[in-house]
Amino acid sequence: LVEAIATQLGVALIQAESYANLEDLNEQLEALERTRSNLIAITGHELRTPLSTIQVCLESLANEPDMMPELRQVMLNTALSDAERMRNLIQDFITLSRLESGRVEWHFESISIDECVDLALSSIRTRQNTETLPRIRAQVPLELPPVRADGEWLVEVLSKLLDNACKFTEPEGEVIIEAKPNGGKMLEVTVTDTGRGIEPNRLEAVFDRFYQEEGALRRTAGGTGLGLAICRQIVLSLGGQIWAESAGRNQGSQFHFTLPIAQDPESEQPDLPPNP
Ligand code: ADP
Repeated sequence: LVEAIATQLGVALIQAESYANLEDLNEQLEALERTRSNLIAITGHELRTPLSTIQVCLESLANEPDMMPELRQVMLNTALSDAERMRNLIQDFITLSRLESGRVEWHFESISIDECVDLALSSIRTRQNTETLPRIRAQVPLELPPVRADGEWLVEVLSKLLDNACKFTEPEGEVIIEAKPNGGKMLEVTVTDTGRGIEPNRLEAVFDRFYQEEGALRRTAGGTGLGLAICRQIVLSLGGQIWAESAGRNQGSQFHFTLPIAQDPESEQPDLPPNP
């Protein structure tokens, strides 16, 4: 009898535990559902805004055949830039959801930071008008050990951080990209700018999806508000950390991230997931 009661008690305990787990699971599912709905609402809003502008511009162009040529040009340019904004937004959104859902195939290799910095620098110089860019200096000692990372995604992080540093810094300002060891096992890359800076209480929020400091800014500075969220996902997946520092408004900003130093090439195991 004692044995039977003990067995029953055991079964009851396991059931109670699985009910508790079920409750946890339900809570997690509800939280996920809330996040999903929020995301759809925010994304819908972010897409609807440029779409409405495009619609207004096209309607005016269609309904006012005698519109002054200068105004016509303004309407066309506005519609084109909002179409580009929508395209970038969709592209960034797809990238972020691929990263978040683990649908990225990583190709790890032993790679020099110096090479990746060069690639990111030539990319920004071909994409942007160099006359309006602040001075960019790279300080990456050649003797630094290679990191273990996926080169393409690493260049993506560097390009996004450099794009932001240049976007929020006056052409007279300066952007510095440097790398140094962080402890014995990691390298740290820092992008410093002399631009408009970030309020101390916003240093973490800047990595949130769709965070942009001023609503109106996106019109002038462009961007999707997803760049830093993408950088964070990439760096975490590569086994590093990312964070921002700034002394405050107009004091410039620093974005740092770390990556694991590549082990001896003999023991290198490409295409394995990184250690978190
Ligand atoms: P986007 O640049 O497309 O707006 P990001 O996710 O890259 O989106 O950045 C989010 C926000 O973080 C920016 O809109 C800006 O408010 C702030 N931010 C990012 N980088 C910098 C920087 N170097 N200096 C000042 N603010 C920055």
